[in-house]
Amino acid sequence: MRQALLTAPKTIEWHELPSPQPGAGELLVRVRAALTCGTDLKTYRRGHPKLRFGPFGHEAAGDVVAVGRDVKDFKPGDAVMWVQTAPCGQCDACVNGAENLCEHIFDEIALGAYADYIVLPRAIVRRNVFKKPVGLSYIEAAFLEPLSCIVHGWNVLRRANAQRPLPQNVAIIGAGTIGMLHLLYAKHAGVRATVIARSAPRMELARTLGAEEIIDARELESAAAPPRFAAVIECAGMVETWQQALALTRPAGRTLFFSGLPSGSEVPLDATRIHYEEITCLGAFHFTPADVREARDLLIAGRVPVRPLVSAVVALANLPDVFERLDRRQGYKYALIPEPAAPEWV
Ligand SMILES: [Zn+2]
Ligand SMILES: [Zn+2]
Repeated sequence: MRQALLTAPKTIEWHELPSPQPGAGELLVRVRAALTCGTDLKTYRRGHPKLRFGPFGHEAAGDVVAVGRDVKDFKPGDAVMWVQTAPCGQCDACVNGAENLCEHIFDEIALGAYADYIVLPRAIVRRNVFKKPVGLSYIEAAFLEPLSCIVHGWNVLRRANAQRPLPQNVAIIGAGTIGMLHLLYAKHAGVRATVIARSAPRMELARTLGAEEIIDARELESAAAPPRFAAVIECAGMVETWQQALALTRPAGRTLFFSGLPSGSEVPLDATRIHYEEITCLGAFHFTPADVREARDLLIAGRVPVRPLVSAVVALANLPDVFERLDRRQGYKYALIPEPAAPEWV
């Protein structure tokens, strides 16, 4: 099998390995489609505080080819979708219902999706692997992980207001894949969505995906009286956009800081508005198994049509070229197919 390793910033190496055998509780899966992700690009550019260099890629779907001892729920031939982590269920965070913050969530990650085969560890097989129905393509199924993050963000928003779990309207700052997934979720939830974007093609895509309103970020900077929204979701990842997110939140509204900033970042926020206007500031990180199941159901039901978010479908062998393109800001999300003879939307 081929296995792509990220060995240093901007260095992808191919290794030829014998295909692995699944241990107890594990699954050996033939990857049918893998997706690139913003986290992968960050790691490619400069490494990642929580992820080591090594087997690369984490968003994928495929077919089970062998099962380890004690696996009862899956058999060879099953098409599956999964996420790359699972909580332990026993640490303080897990016991207190914050499984997304499990102390052991990154102990055993299913990394190495840019390969012909991948082994899924026992903890993931137990909680975060699901059968993929025939009607859902492998590429769409591979959106399970990013969509789980989006679902988690919306569940954080919901919990922050018991009287009105869903906001009347939402502004989404940033029109990358994550911003667009928030837009698709807002459409599904029936929440009026405004997208704040910078590039013309992304504004066009936001329009196609059903944004009620699109605002050019540059116009907003010079606006005398900026609009205000019941909820603002920040997905651009800059100190300025964190501040903008609060500025665009109306009194009694919710600001969701969805994108992470480099560690050590400090953001000056308008304390007067947070206090006297009762603005709820929220963070969202990762997802719980319940979020993953909700995301799975949305994908299977076709409630979140993700196809327009794929920039191109490419043979796995072109992975280094794909990351060079992403590094040059060409495209947002690529689907990599190990078997190039397979039809585009496998
Ligand atoms: Zn991802
Ligand atoms: Zn835990």
